Amino acid sequence: MRIILPLSLRLNYGTSRLRLWAKSTSHLGEKLPIISPISSVTLTHIHLGHVDGIGQFGREVMGASNGSIKLISSKPVIDEMKKKSYLEPFSPEAITNGSKVELGKGVSLEFWRVPHREHEIGETYGIVVRGEKKSILFLPDHDTYKETLDYHKMATIKDWLKSISVDVALLDGTFFTVDEVAGRRSDAQGIPHPPIAESIALLGKRIEGIDPEIIFIHLNHTNTVIDDEMKRLQIQELGWKIGVQGTVWEI
Ligand SMILES: [Zn+2]
Ligand SMILES: [Zn+2]
Repeated sequence: MRIILPLSLRLNYGTSRLRLWAKSTSHLGEKLPIISPISSVTLTHIHLGHVDGIGQFGREVMGASNGSIKLISSKPVIDEMKKKSYLEPFSPEAITNGSKVELGKGVSLEFWRVPHREHEIGETYGIVVRGEKKSILFLPDHDTYKETLDYHKMATIKDWLKSISVDVALLDGTFFTVDEVAGRRSDAQGIPHPPIAESIALLGKRIEGIDPEIIFIHLNHTNTVIDDEMKRLQIQELGWKIGVQGTVWEI
């Protein structure tokens, strides 16, 4: 089983993301990269960058047959997709905090709710993809570690990651600092994502053999780590990483 890192920079759901996935299957010996069959789609939450393009599975573009793809997400997301008439190709499966979904071939998904602008968009989840060899947490969006850790009754990020038992954690790295987006309030309310500078201060140094691999993803175009070598070094020296688009793991 292979899993690819889908968004270290932001892509929409359409052809670019599927092409990236298809590229990761080229080792299977196909002459042309394959994009099918897609058996399930999982959504963390309803923010535009995570759902735009979902309509392309429908009749106008891919023409997936009715109910042929499992859509795994929270009830508010599924309800919203229904309102927009995007549900036709999907058979929805609603999850809540702690839900587990078996995908077959030794791969399962686990869902952990995280506070993320709930008054605007409803529920958001971090997803653990658990394979036979490796487990990976996908957490592209949440507001603050304080709220997330309080919700899960954990004292530190490392404690939480240990409790959900993951080898790799792909964590929200949207911004490096809260003040990098001009015109936005430079506090946690203005930009509800934990900035990398704060996350690495909370994490401290990686302890080899004990801590999981942590990779920051979901980088906004304003994020200075994209081209600031010093900031990258600062992260690497602590033992953490910045995501690279198209990274592939065997799980
Ligand atoms: Zn979001
Ligand atoms: Zn996002």
